[in-house]
This record gives sequence, C-alpha cells and structure tokens, in this order.
Amino acid sequence: MSQYQRPIAIVGNWKMHKTNREAEKYVKELIPIIHTASSRAYLAVPFTALALVSDLCAGTNIVPGAQNMNEQAEGAFTGEICGKMLKDAGAEFVILGHSERRSLFHETNEIVNNKIKRALDYQLTPIVCIGETAQERDQGFTFKVLTSQLTHTLTGLEPAHISRLMLAYEPVWAIGTHLAAMPAAAEEAHHFCREFLMNAYGLQIAEKTHILYGGSVKPDNALPLLQQKNIDGFLVGTASLNAASFGKIINTKVDKV
Ligand code: PEP
Repeated sequence: MSQYQRPIAIVGNWKMHKTNREAEKYVKELIPIIHTASSRAYLAVPFTALALVSDLCAGTNIVPGAQNMNEQAEGAFTGEICGKMLKDAGAEFVILGHSERRSLFHETNEIVNNKIKRALDYQLTPIVCIGETAQERDQGFTFKVLTSQLTHTLTGLEPAHISRLMLAYEPVWAIGTHLAAMPAAAEEAHHFCREFLMNAYGLQIAEKTHILYGGSVKPDNALPLLQQKNIDGFLVGTASLNAASFGKIINTKVDKV
C-alpha cells in the first residue's frame, strides 16, 4: 500500500447548466445528503453561479470552483474571466483543458499549460484533463497521446507545482456517452499516468497526486472504478446535475487496499 493516503475527491462539472435559483436549490439539497461523507465533494459551476454557490458552501464539505479561465492576468479580452476574478468569487479550483474546451474552443496543450501556471499564481487548484479519442484508442495510440498531453501541459512546472494540481483522465469516447471505461482499462491508464509522474517528478509527488477518472460515471458504476488502486476520485458531468445522484456517488464507500 502507498505510504500516502489520497482522500477520494468527487468533482461535479455542471457545464452550461443551472440558473442561480436552480443552483441554490441543488446545493441546499446536496448538503444534508453528503454531510457525513468521507469523500471530498467539489462543484465546478458556471461563472454566474460561483459567488452564490461559494457562499452556500461556506462551512460545508463542498469545495466550490470553476470550469475554465483565461490564461492572461487581466486586460482587453472581452467576455473572458481571469484567475483573480475566480478567486474573488470564491473558487478554490478550476478545471482546465476539458475535452470540450479542446475540441470546441481549440484549446491546445500550450494554452492549457499557460492556464495551469496562471491558476497556480492565484492559489487555485488546477484540475488538468487529459484523454484520448475513440479513434486514437482504436489505433493503439492511447499511451502515446497521454504522454504527449502530460509532457506538454505540464511543461515548465516544478515538482512543488505538480503537488498542487490534480489530473483527470477522461477518455473522450466515454464522456457523455453512457459508455464508461471498464475499471481495469481505466486503471491501466491511471497507472500509466502515475508512472509518468514518478519518472518526471519522483515517487513522492507521484504518490501524492490525485488522478481522477471521468467519463459516464454514475451511482451504479462508481464502486468498481473507485476500487482501483490508482483511481482517486471522479470528474462527473451528467450525473452531477442531479443532487440525489451526485450525492450517491459522493457517498460511495470504498476500502482502498
Ligand atoms: C465530463 O464532461 O467531464 C464528464 C465526465 O461527463 P459525463 O460524466 O457526462 O460523461
């Protein structure tokens, strides 16, 4: 067994869902469902709901955060939101490099790398998403893609920086498809990422870093995934939109060996 305990982290990503009224109802429903959970809950909410959700989560076991940010400190970037604003609105973490940002908004590894550095400047925990497409998997390129994404998104970061972020392995073919990766296949990818971290940053950093799984996680497939040695929690999209189902995932009890 690892000498480091990595407390289970369950991150909900609401994407472009929920008005403030809906957000308030949801958070008030979730708080009592998970108040005795041993896993830590995180909610990545739309910018418009961040200040409200942060206020509602104060003193609870829910950590508020955002789904994206601009890599610049501030300036003439109409419509963009920077790390300082997220911090000011109560965010403690930010998802970076989600596959929807990469495919729909043309985010490159280089942009994600800049965003990670900027998020760290503002004491935001970056949750850095990586993962292969179906085509890349079918061609046998999964580990090549992961190596490239890890190398380029983490370039220039010191071990001390790595210890302040989380990785999320999200195979693109599993996101929003109801086709979660089989636990053994997910574990293989997580083990690969952990080995990458060990070779690049040393055993201590590799053992401390959370590696989350994302892709069609639901209450009924959470346990076998969480039982895998290198799966330290989840990034959850669809099933996080409903407080009851997200609560069930957070309350999943697992004995890690
Ligand atoms: C996601 O978008 O990060 C995600 C994992 O979505 P879903 O849970 O719906 O597959």
